Amino acid sequence: MAPLALPDMAALFPSDKPVFEKDSCDVVFVLGGPGAGYGKGTQCALLVQDYGFVHLSAGDLLRAEQDRAGSQYGDLIRQYIKDGLIVPQEVTIKLLENAMSEAYANPPNNDAWKSGKGRFLIDGFPRKMDQALMFDKVIVQNSLVLFFDTSDEVMVERVMGRAKTSGRADDNVESLKKRFVTFRETSMPVVEYYKEKGLAVVVDASPSTDVVYAEVKKVLAEKLHI
Ligand code: UDP
Ligand code: MG
Repeated sequence: MAPLALPDMAALFPSDKPVFEKDSCDVVFVLGGPGAGYGKGTQCALLVQDYGFVHLSAGDLLRAEQDRAGSQYGDLIRQYIKDGLIVPQEVTIKLLENAMSEAYANPPNNDAWKSGKGRFLIDGFPRKMDQALMFDKVIVQNSLVLFFDTSDEVMVERVMGRAKTSGRADDNVESLKKRFVTFRETSMPVVEYYKEKGLAVVVDASPSTDVVYAEVKKVLAEKLHI
């Protein structure tokens, strides 16, 4: 594949200020190992329902862009996802900014958003240090990171279960192995970085949905006072 010229970050985000103001939104990053099937998705759905969060999945946004007719990044995204690698941040951060702006333009009809403060769950992002630092600088500072922790065995089992129906090009043993390497080497340092900043909370994702959700609610009350 011919190397593709990516837009320059400075050209994409010319302002020296973040696009959104910290006071105008709570951004919660939701991270976990490969395979959302072990409960991360379910927890996000509950949070949307009960707290009025807008849920943005970086992986879903990338897959939508990949399939969008006329996208210049389709092939690039497809290749990175298949190889379990992190797509260059320019693409992902721009997609997130577009989706966030769209939410402000058409806010959900709930009390949280009516009060003027946006609430975002950003799922599966940031997975690489450059993304974490850049999001902070050009989009907005996040308020919290929820890290859903579980064993490798559970992750593999769930992804391979999902593979039967997901139709995803990366739900196979080959891609999964690569995703695990990326997770350990590239994404875990991001979680460690947020832990050191006191912004990340580890939630054990192994118990039942109800038990995990009770824990998540406690964390939101403590950290975000919501
Ligand atoms: N991905 C990426 N940047 C991101 C998020 C996802 O490049 O910020 C890519 C990466 O290749 C990853 C894939 O999208 O392996 C699938 O991510 P998703 O979160 O959908 O899958 P999960 O790991 O939750 O099963
Ligand atoms: Mg996901």
